[in-house]
Amino acid sequence: MNAKRPLIAVLTGAGISTDSGIPDYRGPQGLWQKDPSAEELVTIGPYRGDPEVRRRAWRMRLETGAAAAEPNAGHRALVDLDRSGLPLRVLTQNIDGLHQKSGLPGRKVLELHGNLRETRCLGCGAVGPMAEALARVGAGEPDPDCRACGGILKPHIVMFGENLDQEVLGQADAITRACDVFVAVGTSLQVFPVAALPYNAVKSGAKLIIVNGEPTPYDEAAAEVVREPISLALPRLVRRLVREGA
Ligand code: ZN
Repeated sequence: MNAKRPLIAVLTGAGISTDSGIPDYRGPQGLWQKDPSAEELVTIGPYRGDPEVRRRAWRMRLETGAAAAEPNAGHRALVDLDRSGLPLRVLTQNIDGLHQKSGLPGRKVLELHGNLRETRCLGCGAVGPMAEALARVGAGEPDPDCRACGGILKPHIVMFGENLDQEVLGQADAITRACDVFVAVGTSLQVFPVAALPYNAVKSGAKLIIVNGEPTPYDEAAAEVVREPISLALPRLVRRLVREGA
């Protein structure tokens, strides 16, 4: 009997959160198809250069923060997978924090595009709680600045026009090369460098499973492609992985 339990890496994209009411901004029904000006709010050039863009962005964050999203059956399936005892790492492109909210330990979640729980200063790099910045906005500061250096504050996310954190990407790469099963869920796998992860996983000998509504460039390389809605497909896939010991 082989004592080594297989490591499962799960890469999640916007598709896993659409059933929680969070729009897939890039998808066919995406918000930016309807309101292109919304894209400015998360693009580093306009955000850095235009105070009015920042004021709109802070207002939007204050308003959307009140309508907090809840995890769905897809997120909960990954919690079940974790609790089964199979070694699991989740790499997520999402900034919604729903994996942690569903009960997955934070140390098992690598947030490739950062998070909305914190702010980061464009000047000195200081990181602080988002709640504090939003409280300042609520109290009448339309564009709260960094308390330490007076610089521009942004959410601690990777905006369009910014590079991924190299350290985070390095960790993602290490997990990808070490895993035995790589599951890509709700991601189009078209944006690099994240799109390279499934390729590296296959090259390192992992079995690739893709769960996505639309075709991806890696479907041919996958051992299995599942097209059904994620909140149905993922719980079923997880039950099977647990039954078969991945
Ligand atoms: Zn600063």
